[in-house]
Amino acid sequence: MKGKNRAQFELRLVEDVRQRLAAFPALTFRRVHGRLYIELNGTPFEALNEPLSRVFGVISFSPAVRVKPELEPILETALALIQAAGPKTFKVSARRTARNFPYSSQEIPRLVGAHILKNTPGLKVDVHTPEVELFIEVRQEGVFIYDRVYPGAGGFPVGTSGKVLLLLSGGIDSPVAGWYMLRKGATLGAVYFHSPPYTSERAKLKVIELARILSLWGNRVRLTVVPFTEIQEALKARVPESLLTTFMRRYMMRIAEKIAEDAGALALATGESLGQVASQTLENMHVINAATRLPVLRPLVGLDKTEIIAMARKIGTYETSILPYADCCTVFTPERPQTKPRLINVERIEARAGLDQEGMIARALQGVEVLDITPDMPQIVEGLVDVYL
Ligand code: ATP
Ligand code: MG
Repeated sequence: MKGKNRAQFELRLVEDVRQRLAAFPALTFRRVHGRLYIELNGTPFEALNEPLSRVFGVISFSPAVRVKPELEPILETALALIQAAGPKTFKVSARRTARNFPYSSQEIPRLVGAHILKNTPGLKVDVHTPEVELFIEVRQEGVFIYDRVYPGAGGFPVGTSGKVLLLLSGGIDSPVAGWYMLRKGATLGAVYFHSPPYTSERAKLKVIELARILSLWGNRVRLTVVPFTEIQEALKARVPESLLTTFMRRYMMRIAEKIAEDAGALALATGESLGQVASQTLENMHVINAATRLPVLRPLVGLDKTEIIAMARKIGTYETSILPYADCCTVFTPERPQTKPRLINVERIEARAGLDQEGMIARALQGVEVLDITPDMPQIVEGLVDVYL
């Protein structure tokens, strides 16, 4: 990232990291040229690993030893790190940005490599696929030596890209879609369409738990639960069965648009993936999209189900998503849904169905329940399992 935004993003990122590591008071933080140095002051690095891996905007992180800008301590520390790791092959890489250090980035690996080889019988250099790669960075702010690079969550700090309203069901896909939006720096709100008695209280708890898991990635989630029963029953009674899902989605879009406007969100997001089910063909997406003027972002559009599942596992939503409580759309799923509806037909049917569109939407909006979901909320998935069994 270039330009003016960069400094702002960095400040935001440092704030996010500090907050996430608030439980470790001994840490001190220093930001230098696109890097954040965290001095452990006795805190074990392992304790930070998990929370750090959940901060968006972090590309990677490494536990490093800082030494004086002199050859002797560099050689000693490099040797100690390699001996602690105990590989059969290794490689040393160096980078020097401090001009006043007397050895070049070509000389450092040779000197350090030779020292390690001399003192470690049986060890070999392998420049292509070493078991351990030792990095030595000679910078103005210190010399850093490390042999581990942990991948960060990537993306941008949460809150740097504006607000998006996620249509969050209890399924596998939409929480993953929400995660991708968070990763791109969006602040997330969520909306869930609830249809009691067709959908149980547990289905709602499941969605709350999914929102809580999303909030662990650095964002409080305001979840709006919308009563959807009246609309679903009316649609079931008045529109062709094969288009039921399409119509339902159009109503979801209309209601979500209103909630988004109130919340200052400039886009909606869904867990749709092209062609995954009958209601996610391009034709259906086109017809569903036409019900709102807001952009509908579909971060999973090009992913396969297996990839989405792998992501759901990674971000921690999978186990909750597969709990067996039906959402409203399972209950009202048509036997033979249309895969190629045309907008002009759908609009005509909708106009002739004699539905009280305005009234139904107004009543749904009047009946919403708003929940502010925070990371420190108690986990409820255990309870869910108990209730189910
Ligand atoms: P998911 O796993 O996210 O439920 P899905 O593959 O089951 O997705 P559909 O049921 O066709 O797909 O739903 C498509 C998208 O519509 C969902 O990803 C979600 O964004 C939205 N959606 C569906 N049902 C609801 C609901 N009850 N409340 C809120 N959003 C919903
Ligand atoms: Mg679903």
